[in-house]
Formats: sequence, C-alpha cells, structure tokens
Amino acid sequence: MIQLIRGFKDILPEEISLWQHIETEASLLLQNFGFCEIRIPIMERTELFARSIGEDTDIVEKEMYTFPDRKGELITLRPEATASIVRAYIQHRLYSQDPVQKLYTIGPMFRRERPQKGRYRQFYQIDAEVFGVESPLMDAQMIHMLMTLFSRLNITDCAAHINSLGCPVCRPGFKVALMQKLTDRIDRLCEDCRRRSAKNPLRVMDCKVPSCREALTDIPSILDYLCPDCHTHFETVQSQLKTLGVKHEIDRGLVRGLDYYTRTAFEIQTGLLGAQSAVVGGGRYDGLVKALGGPDIPGIGFAIGFDRLAELAALNLSDISKKPGLFIAALGTAAQLQAFEWACQLSVSGIQTEMDMSNRSLKSQMKQADRLGASQVLILGEQELNDKAAILRDMTTKTQIILPFDGLIEKLTSVWNSPEGCP
Ligand code: AMP
Repeated sequence: MIQLIRGFKDILPEEISLWQHIETEASLLLQNFGFCEIRIPIMERTELFARSIGEDTDIVEKEMYTFPDRKGELITLRPEATASIVRAYIQHRLYSQDPVQKLYTIGPMFRRERPQKGRYRQFYQIDAEVFGVESPLMDAQMIHMLMTLFSRLNITDCAAHINSLGCPVCRPGFKVALMQKLTDRIDRLCEDCRRRSAKNPLRVMDCKVPSCREALTDIPSILDYLCPDCHTHFETVQSQLKTLGVKHEIDRGLVRGLDYYTRTAFEIQTGLLGAQSAVVGGGRYDGLVKALGGPDIPGIGFAIGFDRLAELAALNLSDISKKPGLFIAALGTAAQLQAFEWACQLSVSGIQTEMDMSNRSLKSQMKQADRLGASQVLILGEQELNDKAAILRDMTTKTQIILPFDGLIEKLTSVWNSPEGCP
C-alpha cells in the first residue's frame, strides 16, 4: 500500500469540525478588525523566498521544496506566506488607493524540517499582514487580537513574548557588540553559527542547538542599544498592551529567524505542547516592501501555526461536533423511493439528512442512525405508506409521534429551524 510522505499528514473527518470552528472564529475576528482575505499561490519563484527570507537562513539553506519546472525555472513550495502577500501587494499596486491594507490568508506551508510531534513538512498557518501603519498601536492591536482568539478557543495557558529588534539606525551597534562576544566563543558554536556569526550574528540568537544556546547565555541585549525612536516605539507597544489588559513578557533573547524583521518581534508560547512551544510568530518588517521592489511602506504581520493551535484547542473544547441530524429509515422499495425524495428536499432546506440506500433491516438502520448521531429518525414502512403518515422517533427520549405525509416537509423544516431546534 502506498503511504503518505514522511512529515505530511491527513486531517481526518473526526478532526475537521475543530479545524472549521477555528477557521470560522479566526476569520470572523480578523474581519472585525478590518482584515480582508487574500488567496495566494502555493508556489512562487524561488528567488522571492531567497530574497525575502534571507539566503543564510535554515529555511532557505535547508528546508525549501525547490525544483526546476519543465522549462528549468526554479520554483518553490511556499515555506511561509508573508513573501507572497508582499509580492501581491506590490504587483497589484494594492497601495495605490490607500497604502493601509490589512490582509489575511489561511493555508498550507511546506518546509523540509526534521519531522517530530508538532512539526510537519506540510503544516498550516493563519497568516495576517498589515501594510502602511508604522504606529506601535498596530503592534499592540495585533497581539491583543491574537490573545482574544486564543481566549475564544478556551486556550488560557499561553503568553505573549515580545522584544524589539531595533532598526537600521541602531541595530548595527548591537551587531558589533554581539559579534565581539561571538568571536570570543566561536569554538562553542555549531558549524552553521560559526559561518553565520560574521555575516548575520543575529541569526545565531535563533539557533536551537543546545551548545549554541549555552554559549549565548550572557550576550548583550538589543534593548540596551535601541535608538530613541525604537525605544519610544517599544515603550508604547508595552503601555498599550497594558491598557488592553494583555499579559506579556519581555523576552530579550527573542529574535525572529527571518531577515526582514525590524522593531517589535513577538511570539505566543505555551508550555502545553512539549518542545514545540511557539504557536504564533510575528513582528514588524518595515523594510521588506521596499527590499522586494515596492515603495517604502512599513509592514507588520504574524503567522499562527494552525496545527499547534488545533492541538491546543482540542485540549479545552469538547463539544465541537457535527450538529445531529435526521435519519430516514425506509423499509421496502416503495418506501425507499419516498424516503429518497424527502432526504433530498430536507437536505436542500437545511436539515442534515441521511438514509440507508442498501435495503437493510430496520434494526441495522436504527444502529446506523445511532452511529451517525442522528437526533431523530423518520420511520417509513409499508404500513406507514398505506396510512400516509410516518413515525418520528426521538433518539434521546425514545418517544414517537405520528407525522402525516401532508405537510410533513414543511412541519419538519419549520420545527428543525426554529430556535428550540428539532422537535
Ligand atoms: P514561523 O513562520 O517560522 O514564524 O512560524 C510561525 C508558526 O508556525 C510557529 O510558531 C509554529 O506554530 C508554526 N510552524 C512553523 N513551522 C512548523 C512546522 N514545521 N510544523 C508545524 N507548525 C509549524
């Protein structure tokens, strides 16, 4: 039997109601905060990711699914969504009417990482980006919005971690200080970090290798190097989070692994998922739109790891299952044809309706109704056809009522769709 590819996974029907619930909650919340959905392709030219994410990142160096298409052009399965959204923003000149655009997308990303629990090679993200707003109020609002989503999904054991990465004015000073420290302990760093420490020392702070983490315990903090503008920006983010009642921690070691981040960087972390503690990663990227050939417009965004969010939500939400429906148990060919007509009509009018199409016994049809979680069963045999009245059985109370054929559909639909629910 052919199995799925390592690191890939199926999301099975039993998990789908939770995924749909999360998607609905997230979309509603994002739309209430003024975001519009955008759908971007799953593949882009490799160059887009190499330029935006940075050549010397794990993603670009080791993890991208890149291959030549039939004409030899290098294309890549997207490892994240920001680059594509920025490309679309520039390509379609979405800034021409108003530079302020709030966009979100939900979909799969691909990274050839080492698979483990909570880390897949195809995973899903809910990604949101805001262009054209430099104000720290937006940074605070995005973190507030994320924490609201978490609390709507009953996830409370999580915390927002924030840091500032400075800007092109103040970051060089920090880089020099960091580079000095790294040079002192270069022999304790992993091979990648040795190479990266001269070119992009900040990247070393993002390394997960234990020996590198140990070597970095007393490195300088970027917060001590912020220029007055970056300092004020970061102070405002914090004070606004406080005003909004968002619990947060300053995490001086937090850097985002991608080259284009400036100023606020944040993560939402949890202790509930073992080693994979980050559920959301985000931050400001004021130079990216320009770096990719667009106007000088600031940006900020985040990506929620959908798989990890679903895992967290599953711990706390128990009652997200399919709404119970109606099952029609029909005995004999004539009854089955009548049931078929009704099943089609009822499904169209909004009642989830199932029936048996294999002429099974009443006993096994009742079992099937039970398995499907039907709350009501409409029973139709020869006798009922003669009497022109079907039996409606409530599967919880086990009580039965007679429903005359005349007006049966109208009666079922009106009662089912009433606020009290099914009869
Ligand atoms: P990043 O795009 O690396 O900032 O990641 C944002 C979020 O996506 C992380 O906090 C994770 O929740 C999720 N994520 C990233 N990589 C993976 C992966 N390989 N498998 C599952 N989730 C992931």
